[in-house]
Amino acid sequence: MNNKANPRHSYSFELFPPKTPEGRAKLADTVQRLNAVAPAYFSVTYGAGGSTREGTFETVTLLHDRNIDVAPHLSCIGSSRAEIREILDHYRTGNIRRIVALRGDLPSGMGAAGTGELAYGNELVACIREETGTAFHIEVAAYPEVHPQASGARQDLENFKRKVAAGADAAITQYFYNADAYFAFVDACRGLGVEIPIVPGIMPITNYDKLARFSAACGAEIPRWIGRRLEDFGDDMDSIREFGHQVVLNLCRRLLEGGAPGIHFYTMNQAAPTLRLWRDLDLPGA
Ligand code: FAD
Repeated sequence: MNNKANPRHSYSFELFPPKTPEGRAKLADTVQRLNAVAPAYFSVTYGAGGSTREGTFETVTLLHDRNIDVAPHLSCIGSSRAEIREILDHYRTGNIRRIVALRGDLPSGMGAAGTGELAYGNELVACIREETGTAFHIEVAAYPEVHPQASGARQDLENFKRKVAAGADAAITQYFYNADAYFAFVDACRGLGVEIPIVPGIMPITNYDKLARFSAACGAEIPRWIGRRLEDFGDDMDSIREFGHQVVLNLCRRLLEGGAPGIHFYTMNQAAPTLRLWRDLDLPGA
């Protein structure tokens, strides 16, 4: 398979704002290495309830100053419309042209009183369109394995459709390790008349404990056979990385062969695991 030069495919990298001086120094190096393969864009996460607002701005600026196309994530839960408007103005005047629009999760300990004026992703998308027209290309989140708080799979799909109806241009999925979940989700969307690109979000496997914790929280399933194999490796990190690479490489191959319109890599601010996948997938610039 050769995935080179399909101009309609989107390959992107996600970063989070570092919290320490060491993290910041490492990020500059990670960005340089990842940018060498010329991804479509980088996205930068936004901490729960706006907790990394300044850090997100800083990381966005670091990328933008290097002429890199960047998509800040923006979550609405816990924020007022005025705060959202202020952030949109900040990005628009800074010539940022993409946004990943999310409901977000409240930081633990913050009660219902902190939910803000916009309760769901579709309301944020509508707000961005009302405030800024077509100034931003808007990506939203999608959940092939169903959002953990959804009342049901059908309802979750209808709610995803609302975000598209409100003006989303494309979607990035929560990560998953079961390609069939992605294909079934895309088919169900098309059946509802949802035609936007749905780009699979891919999480490289480098550390089983962290992955298991994170997956339990966000509702991503680690198939039993993968979990059991990873457990067996214990603290043999080389074996975890090698096995994890082969699992994720096969997943990406199946997704691309099955028609996925690109890949969004959750890099976790590490260049090497993503670049290895990029190279073995024969993506452009590797
Ligand atoms: P929504 O689309 O609002 O959905 C949330 C839940 O509410 C779902 O169960 C849905 O079925 C239901 N729902 C949606 N609309 C309605 C409605 N109108 N009425 C009733 N129910 C409804 N979190 C962060 O804090 N920062 C980030 O930077 C971040 N980046 C992410 C990037 C990606 C690609 C993904 C997949 C997730 C990211 N998250 C991030 C996590 C995300 O914020 C959480 O998964 C959050 O719980 C849901 O956000 P959402 O935008 O998908 O919410």
